Amino acid sequence: MPTVAFLGLGAIGRPMAARLAAAPDIELAVWNRTAERARSFAAEHRARHAATPADAARGASVVITCLPVSADVEQLLDGPDGLLAGLSKGAVLVDCTSGDPTTSRRIASRLAEHGVGFLDAPVSGGTNGAEQGTLTVMVGGDPALLDRVRPVLTAFGKKIVHCGDVGAGDALKAVNNALLAVHVWSTGEGLAALEKLGVKAEVALDVINASSGRSNASMNLFPERVLTRAFPRTFRLALLDKDIGIAAGVAREQKVPAPLLQLAADLFRIAHGVLGEEADHVEAVKLVEQWAGVRIGETQ
Ligand code: NDP
Repeated sequence: MPTVAFLGLGAIGRPMAARLAAAPDIELAVWNRTAERARSFAAEHRARHAATPADAARGASVVITCLPVSADVEQLLDGPDGLLAGLSKGAVLVDCTSGDPTTSRRIASRLAEHGVGFLDAPVSGGTNGAEQGTLTVMVGGDPALLDRVRPVLTAFGKKIVHCGDVGAGDALKAVNNALLAVHVWSTGEGLAALEKLGVKAEVALDVINASSGRSNASMNLFPERVLTRAFPRTFRLALLDKDIGIAAGVAREQKVPAPLLQLAADLFRIAHGVLGEEADHVEAVKLVEQWAGVRIGETQ
């Protein structure tokens, strides 16, 4: 029975950990910075509440982290209560944070000094995908390590893909989310212009979704979240801002001109500043609407 530790019970981490807790062959320990969240998780699921990262990692063959940024994971390594104090030689740290390749490489080499493996393994599919165990997991690092932890990752992942060396999963995830950001923003601009012209948003989306401009934004996010004005808070705008910044950084490092990614990064940085830390990513559309002087869906 693999012993697994999960650190970071946030919007996506909590349902991922719940899938692990429900797997009959996994022994789970959970840790969260705000201890009450881990305590309530352990009370509701078959899991042990760990008092510290070291306590969570002790005896675990697989340790999974899911925090906002890679620097948060790096900060958990050190000190008497840190991960390195609990990780055993031969264990694997699987970082499901949508992280940045440079920090992931640094974490991997620090862990290697202690005989601990590292995989960057960001996920896609949202909180619904986590609840249903249908996430896509994009993995960077030694493929033999992935083979070893794959049975654990299948608790929450349906499509688990080896992408390349350490950092490759992070880079691919950042590019994916940059595309999401571009689609959200550009769909907002297009629908705002059509709205002003008197075209109903439902009509516009009906046509676009049967045509070549469709995307996850037009097919799901706008109908479910913008037209309904529900704007559920499932994935913070602050985190998408971080992701596009990583994607633009990857393009810069690779000396690829990427003016569109940089522009999207700037727009989402502005939206994050205006709308705040708790706003959902789709709420960026509210800024497009404000600039346009129109509300998408107001034409009846
Ligand atoms: P949340 O903001 O909902 O949760 C963040 C979690 O990290 C909380 O458990 C929080 O603890 C903990 N945390 C924050 N800062 C620190 C720190 N310095 N040290 C230790 N723990 C910390 O984020 P999400 O769960 O939404 O996202 C987590 C990662 O997954 C991000 O990289 C995000 O980009 C990615 N992701 C999110 C998706 C989503 O739909 N939400 C989809 C795909 C990827 P506390 O409870 O104490 O605040």
